[in-house]
Amino acid sequence: MHDVIVVGAGSSGCAIAARASEDPNRTVLLLEAGPDYSDLSTLPFDLTNGHNNSYTAHDWKFAHNPTRQREVRFPRGRVTGGSSAVNTAIALRGMPEDFEEWAELSLPEWGWRGVLPAYRRLERDLDFGERDYHGDAGPITIRRYPPSEMSLQHLSFLEAARSLGYPDCPDANDPDGWGAGPQPMNKLGQLRVSCAVGYLAPARVRKNLTIRPETTVLRVLAESGRCTGVEVRNRDGSVEELRAKLVVLSAGAIMTPAILMRSGLGPKEQLERHSIPVVRHMPGVGQNLSDHPALSVTMKPKDPSIIDHDMPIIQTILRYTAEGSDKRNDLQIEMLSFSGKRDQPQFAIAGVLEYQHGRGELVLASADPDAAPVIHQQFCEDETDLKRLVGCYRDVLRFARTKPISDMVENIDFPRGGNPTDDEIAGLVRRFAGSGYHPCGTAKMGVASDDMAVVDQHGRCHGLDGLAVADASIMPFVPRANTNLTAIMIGEKVGEWLRTRPAIYGL
Ligand SMILES: Cc1cc2nc3c(=O)[nH]c(=O)nc-3n(C[C@H](O)[C@H](O)[C@H](O)COP(=O)(O)OP(=O)(O)OC[C@H]3O[C@@H](n4cnc5c(N)ncnc54)[C@H](O)[C@@H]3O)c2cc1C
Repeated sequence: MHDVIVVGAGSSGCAIAARASEDPNRTVLLLEAGPDYSDLSTLPFDLTNGHNNSYTAHDWKFAHNPTRQREVRFPRGRVTGGSSAVNTAIALRGMPEDFEEWAELSLPEWGWRGVLPAYRRLERDLDFGERDYHGDAGPITIRRYPPSEMSLQHLSFLEAARSLGYPDCPDANDPDGWGAGPQPMNKLGQLRVSCAVGYLAPARVRKNLTIRPETTVLRVLAESGRCTGVEVRNRDGSVEELRAKLVVLSAGAIMTPAILMRSGLGPKEQLERHSIPVVRHMPGVGQNLSDHPALSVTMKPKDPSIIDHDMPIIQTILRYTAEGSDKRNDLQIEMLSFSGKRDQPQFAIAGVLEYQHGRGELVLASADPDAAPVIHQQFCEDETDLKRLVGCYRDVLRFARTKPISDMVENIDFPRGGNPTDDEIAGLVRRFAGSGYHPCGTAKMGVASDDMAVVDQHGRCHGLDGLAVADASIMPFVPRANTNLTAIMIGEKVGEWLRTRPAIYGL
């Protein structure tokens, strides 16, 4: 019997396992469906290469419907480090107001003052570590590209931003900041500092921490209103039950709700449809799916030699607020050094909606643990979302037409003609908006009186002792930033509670 089983060695799970096992008297078992590279010198190139995402080699092979008309691939990391091991390594924090909104949902632990210490603890900011809102001794190293390391595309982006009147923002993680500047990134040179690198590497020597890769959790086990452990499928195909005093689900915003539902914890009608015995009717599981809809302008350069797929794809960012919006920094614009296929030189600028009002949902396709869930995002069906992303896309087109970017462009490949009306942009957004790959909210935190809440503010499952959830799925809604740092911050908070206040979890 273990004290704690953590399901999923992703952004949150690695932080939880590492923090909880800092108490040598607490045994922690970390289960991961994907492989583990315990010796960092054996990490495959797609995992070390922080210059671009790894899309297929360590992936769950999910698909989603970003809009009603389309089904496209939806990458999620399947390896120790989880999605932090395959992502773009953008290290951006949510806005203080995001967390004040979480706190207003009667979740006082999650106000800005509650989350800032965890954001500080997780990072080693090489540029601004001495500032009181930053950390300089955490496991995740963060730095920004200086102009001397930036490609022509990114230098041009910053110059265009200046001439369009946006202020310089040297630190996009300054809680009061906005404007254009270098993107904070959890990279050292080309190395992506994933949570496997930052958290697991130094913790794996501990005798009280066991990491078990290639072990897929099929469901959590419940007896008399209490979670008693998990059922797993091992590498050799054998099925086994593992017991623990506490199970923490950190399988991410797609697999956590799927595991809950297959365990009988979910919307009753859905469970009955798949003949899954209902342990507890939880209508919120799989609902409230939140993400960052985005759409790019793609351009063919006059000089194809500026496109190099081996260079960093991201180096800069513009954080700003939509016209008339009361949500600060609810939009992002990002230059992508390259896009599309290697043999067709192209670069792009993406407009991203950071504060989403609309919601999608995730439902089970079947009770089979190997069947991918069905993911409907329903992007920009909400009129406020649509209006702000249309405005953002108009701003992206303005960038494409501003020197020195315009001097680099032979022609705009998408949208065709390069000069759409707002109605035409709305049509493009409704049809082609894609995901920032930031799903969250599918097992949201909330008070017990909220029918749609799945866990309380400590991540404890409503109505089932011995089970907690801690990953992107518990976010009540997507923060105004790429979600990796916030998922790690959640792991930091829950891991720290496990270490310092274990009684919260019955330990
Ligand atoms: C391609 C891509 C690019 C991205 N780029 C960025 C970026 O640049 N910056 C940023 O901030 N965010 C980015 N994100 C999003 C960010 O990485 C995620 O929000 C974050 O990693 C989510 O953390 P998590 O702990 O919730 O889930 P994950 O990190 O996905 O971890 C879940 C873990 O659980 C494991 N698991 C799942 N099911 C089971 C099971 N049944 N049994 C055992 N193990 C299981 C998975 O294999 C995985 O390791 C990106 C994501 C992707 C996919």
